[in-house]
Amino acid sequence: ASTALSRIGLAGLAVMGQNLALNIAEKGFPISVYNRTTSKIDETLDRAKQEGNLSLTSHYSPRDFVLSLQRPRSVIILVKAGSPVDHTISALSEFMDSGDSIIDGGNEWYENTERRIREVSDKGILYLGMGVSGGEEGARYGPSLMPGGSYQAYLDIEEIMKKVAAQVEDGPCVTYIGEGGSGNFVKMVHNGIEYGDMQLISEAYDVLKVAGGLSNSELADIFAEWNKGELESFLIEITADIFKVKDEHGEGELVDKILDKTGMKGTGKWTVQQAAELSVAAPTIAASLDCRYLSGLKEEREAAAEVLKGAGMKEEVGGMRSGVDKKRLIDDVRQALYASKICSYAQGMNLLRAKSVEKDWNLNFGELARIWKGGCIIRAVFLDRIKKAYQRNPQLASLIVDPDFAREMVQRQAAWRRVVGLAISSGISTPGMCASLAYFDTYRRARLPANLVQAQRDLFGAHTYERIDRPGSFHTEWTKLA
Ligand code: NAP
Repeated sequence: ASTALSRIGLAGLAVMGQNLALNIAEKGFPISVYNRTTSKIDETLDRAKQEGNLSLTSHYSPRDFVLSLQRPRSVIILVKAGSPVDHTISALSEFMDSGDSIIDGGNEWYENTERRIREVSDKGILYLGMGVSGGEEGARYGPSLMPGGSYQAYLDIEEIMKKVAAQVEDGPCVTYIGEGGSGNFVKMVHNGIEYGDMQLISEAYDVLKVAGGLSNSELADIFAEWNKGELESFLIEITADIFKVKDEHGEGELVDKILDKTGMKGTGKWTVQQAAELSVAAPTIAASLDCRYLSGLKEEREAAAEVLKGAGMKEEVGGMRSGVDKKRLIDDVRQALYASKICSYAQGMNLLRAKSVEKDWNLNFGELARIWKGGCIIRAVFLDRIKKAYQRNPQLASLIVDPDFAREMVQRQAAWRRVVGLAISSGISTPGMCASLAYFDTYRRARLPANLVQAQRDLFGAHTYERIDRPGSFHTEWTKLA
């Protein structure tokens, strides 16, 4: 290790840590790296050398690592969320001083960050929980960064983070999110929205493949075409690429050989739990999570397919459903996907707003949409329009009533209903699109059948009800009058 002190340190050199460290070093900031298992330290140093990067130095003990940093010290940790973060904090903080800061870049539960903020404050250490999105590529070439917690800790690393983050035309994809665990919370909802996007895309694929009879090569072309319009986004782009990849071990494309069981690591579940906790409807995100659970029941589904016969159970790959106009179906699915996606983002944003009010985080939704425009998994051209919608009206009740989005939703309704209708009558499950459409139809109804539910609640539980024609709360002896 050199004797000159480093500008910043990074502990935890798995996929994310190694790549973020190389990114920081490449931007010219001297960085010290450390990992519990030392082989990863050498690996990182080798990669830096291979890239001709001389601003990265390796350190083999927590003490040497911490003491290699300029004061006030800023240490990013990128280890497995949960207790490994606590272990790493206690190993490093022993050698840190008042005014130094720890920045956890993992997908951490926001309350753990809030606990750690309190714990390290005893020593005067500042703390940030910073969501990092974009996976391995993002970390290396420009992630979207969502730092929340100590504002001073953010200011200490702001110049570095602005260079390291993905760059879009209106600035680097980083902004100070707010106090406490807000950075982790925003990252969590980002992941929930990501679940929704992926589910909706998979449903578009299913409808086009099963009802439209489209081949993988046609699907690749269609997704590539969609990526030139309003759906332009990272997920649409990679989906087009996926359809082209041939199977190395046999005939056809790899996508058809992949077992239909989706994995998950918990951020989608947390998003849905928080939505329920805060009484915010997030049906599209919840449907995506449910679909991952159902996908896990592969054997049960295979057995159920044998007994629950009916519409559309047999995949008609290569042949189109009779009566389906292929060109129109493709265009309808594009519109259904777009409209469903807007509903899903509306749900995610409303969840963020409810939490912001509860925690007094004062989240800036326009800024959140802006920093998601680059670097992260949900990056998409239409996030610029979400940004503008919230700039026009920071108090927007829902994205779907913003005048621009409202007009688009109304225009796409007919196509959306045709796709969902076709899917339902063909037995192709489209839980995300259906959830979005039901959300749309419920939200835009001036009068819902909730009057009947209130009557039932009053009848069996004397829960009382309000009336539409006079103020006050009322109870009726329903059974006597019936
Ligand atoms: P990971 O597999 O989540 O964690 C591995 C790292 O944690 C290694 O450095 C490991 O050290 C360390 N570690 C595990 N247990 C430890 C303990 N008890 N004490 C000290 N260190 C311990 O790594 P990752 O995939 O790079 O992810 C890091 C964080 O970023 C996670 O919170 C993850 O959720 C988040 N994230 C990941 C991605 C992604 O695409 N992978 C994207 C966004 C966010 P050893 O080498 O010594 O075992």
